[in-house]
Amino acid sequence: MISASVEKAAERLRKAVPIMVKHGIPVTPVNYALWYTYVSNDDPTLNRRIDDIVATYGTVPFSRAADLFREHVSPDGEHDAALTRVKEDLEKMVQGIGQELNASLSGTRDFNSLLDECSRDLRSPPGTGNSFEDVFGTVEKLLQGSTAMHESSARFEQKLKSANAEIRRLRDEMEALRHNVMHDELTGVNNRRAFDTELAQLTPQAARGVPLHLAMLDIDHFKQFNDRFGHQVGDRVLGVVGKQLNDTGRLGVSAYRYGGEEFALVFCGGTAHQAVDLCENLRVSIERLALKDNRSGERLAQISISIGMASYRAGESTEEFIARADHSLYKAKQSGRNRLCREE
Ligand code: GH3
Ligand code: MG
Ligand code: MG
Repeated sequence: MISASVEKAAERLRKAVPIMVKHGIPVTPVNYALWYTYVSNDDPTLNRRIDDIVATYGTVPFSRAADLFREHVSPDGEHDAALTRVKEDLEKMVQGIGQELNASLSGTRDFNSLLDECSRDLRSPPGTGNSFEDVFGTVEKLLQGSTAMHESSARFEQKLKSANAEIRRLRDEMEALRHNVMHDELTGVNNRRAFDTELAQLTPQAARGVPLHLAMLDIDHFKQFNDRFGHQVGDRVLGVVGKQLNDTGRLGVSAYRYGGEEFALVFCGGTAHQAVDLCENLRVSIERLALKDNRSGERLAQISISIGMASYRAGESTEEFIARADHSLYKAKQSGRNRLCREE
């Protein structure tokens, strides 16, 4: 049987993750330990402090989380302790399933010996216990044994089902959290954090020979656009551009908001030629957008983007790679905007 403390641990996991998702808090060992303690209600002072911070900021900023963790959860500031705790919770769940599996297996072994015993009984020579009553007795034993076996496998199946549901829920919540943390709400594309994380993961692969191309895209004269139509209309236009980027997205191409009115496309695999073609198509389709303010019906000015591209060169760092794409973007702006420049 899964012990009460394992069930409690699972319940705390189940409670902590949605609260973290709600407040947009990344699952780091420190944050996890903090919210695990919060849902445990073990430390009312900590809960009051967290409630106050959430009431003020709508979340628990990283610096405050680190302080609370130091003061309430792990006074020695031992971050590994929090990670150990997460691991222990998961391990307890796994152990619980393991115990149930063992119980079920030993039930299977008992049932097997019962079957052996019954077939020995049935094979015994005539006159040595093969009367009608004896056979009836054997059938009765089999019935009891198989009922017990059936019950124990039903229990095991039930445990597995609930563990499976628990794990699925955790995975979905983690996925939602990942989405929140890596996604830019205004434009619908991945955010800067995702860009930094993913590019840092891709450059070592590129160093081993997987082609990698980077395009930096910047909306032309967007300040003027905002000044003319207002910042809110500008925000909606950023959403339209984000959608264009996502629509152009295909296997191996990811879109990011690099910051402000600047975006990035990362091409993993494929030739530089293919990346240039895709960017050119995107540039033309943005230039041709007939933008309209759907609130006032007003026709808006056309927009355009400048694009700077670079292909990864063996031996360069992620920063150098980005700087070369940025330099191409600068050239595209300098040479008249609404065009693509590429570092050879
Ligand atoms: P350039 O062609 O040289 O890129 O000109 P620009 O005006 O686009 O560039 P600049 O860097 O001078 O200004 C960027 C503008 O982008 C100013 C800023 O208001 C606007 N911007 C940045 N982020 C946002 C945003 O989230 N929403 C809106 N509406 N505008 C933004
Ligand atoms: Mg701009
Ligand atoms: Mg800019």
